[in-house]
Amino acid sequence: MTTAAQPQTKKARTSYRALPDFFFADARPSPAKAPQWIAYNHVLAAELQLPTVLAASSNVPTPTAEALEVFSGNAVPEWSQPFSQAYAGHQFGHFNPQLGDGRAIMLCEVLNQAGELQDVQLKGAGRTTFSRSGDGRSPIGPVLREYLVSETMHQLGVPTTRALAAVATGNWVYREKAEPGAILTRVASSHIRVGTFQFAAVHGGTERVKQLADYVIQRHYPELAAAENPYLELIATVLQRQANLVAHWMSLGFIHGVMNTDNTSVYGETIDYGPCAFMDHYAAAQVYSFIDKRGRYSYVNQPIIAQWNVTRFAESLAELIRLPTEADEALLARLSVVLDSFQPTYQQLWLTKFAQKIGIHAPLASDRLLIEDLLELFETHSIDFTLGFRLLAHELSPNEHTQTTTNLFSQPELFSAWKSRWLKRVDHRSKALIERVNPAIIPRNHFIAKAINEASSSGNLAMFQALLTQLQTPFDSVHLTTELAQPPAAAEQIANTFCGT
Ligand code: AMP
Ligand code: MG
Repeated sequence: MTTAAQPQTKKARTSYRALPDFFFADARPSPAKAPQWIAYNHVLAAELQLPTVLAASSNVPTPTAEALEVFSGNAVPEWSQPFSQAYAGHQFGHFNPQLGDGRAIMLCEVLNQAGELQDVQLKGAGRTTFSRSGDGRSPIGPVLREYLVSETMHQLGVPTTRALAAVATGNWVYREKAEPGAILTRVASSHIRVGTFQFAAVHGGTERVKQLADYVIQRHYPELAAAENPYLELIATVLQRQANLVAHWMSLGFIHGVMNTDNTSVYGETIDYGPCAFMDHYAAAQVYSFIDKRGRYSYVNQPIIAQWNVTRFAESLAELIRLPTEADEALLARLSVVLDSFQPTYQQLWLTKFAQKIGIHAPLASDRLLIEDLLELFETHSIDFTLGFRLLAHELSPNEHTQTTTNLFSQPELFSAWKSRWLKRVDHRSKALIERVNPAIIPRNHFIAKAINEASSSGNLAMFQALLTQLQTPFDSVHLTTELAQPPAAAEQIANTFCGT
């Protein structure tokens, strides 16, 4: 393809490709038969300094035909050297030494307006060195789900990979039945996972781990380079970011679904959206993923698993951290000091976030019980998590609203004792705080399912587009009167989600 208008005319080496080729393999997207746009994210595109062929002007609804060729895998710009990353990972607790990007191909790195390097990656563009028995493809369903959920997460303020583009390939993808294929173009601060470190440790040893750790420090945490023990600090930083991420998920009722170490970003972004879901009614042990038969990745287990994943990260770095002649016990003791900080760190973040959800700016230790009692009430009476918190704002100006948390209960008395305790802890700023941190809408599972069904059965994207538009402003009160704000009726409830890979 011509690249006359490109800022880069030569091959632009990505920073990742400067690592030894132990860490990646060249890849080539497979052609798509009849590519068509599903979505293009103009706002994100404007934030990234995209090469012109991938960019679009904001006053045209779709970018150029050339961009469609690239985002569908039909053309690789001459400045791009596409590759797939190697990684390993614990999947449901079992170590797999050889995973890697089986259906993802990195196109390039770009700088965003803040000057941060971002990966641009095609997901579902065909087989790679790491595909094992997979086809490297993706049906349209997971692409639409990831697009909707990751963009909502961004609007909700959660660290996350983004969706830049989605195209239908015109190829069939064969799962339980034939489904229309699609490709998501994903943007991430990086795609380096705990599993990338595990891969380095198990196949490469300390030298490779050091190369990767130095790269991660340089790319993500340059301030650590000057620390007395940068690698120990790296563990502490990754821990802090994972604790923060999971506290944020918990505060929104988000269930990732597949918290394997290969789906755990060392930068602390939500990555690899598969059978993920937001809860409707609150249930601590909620699991949606069809493959999670034992509930390993249930809502309530997420902080425990995050700590487990960070522990696997620390193990991968252990030899790098060992002092000359240091015995195992001494090394372990030093690592334990860091790892043991996970739960207190997380608990503090949880308290801060949930206190804000109920309108408390500066929580006291005793507010933990108040929050736990509210969650218990929600669980006992199957109260919708999102609405239950959001409508607390209306309790503070009851004359203006008929929709209140009280009205979600079958009888007001069930809520009144808790409400009296809570009213002693709120002030004039609480209503605004509640409305700032609690979304009015989330991408509810039954709506996602309907949007996916419409798109995959008849190519109708109307519902997907309507959801995407509405979810741009999840905190806005205007949405409270819409269908999307309402919990599913019993018959609409989704019990299982599939990653559909
Ligand atoms: P996940 O946990 O779904 O992110 O994926 C686990 C592993 O399976 C990763 O190494 C993926 O690249 C790989 N994988 C998933 N789906 C496919 C597919 N359709 N073709 C090839 N590899 C895949
Ligand atoms: Mg994955």
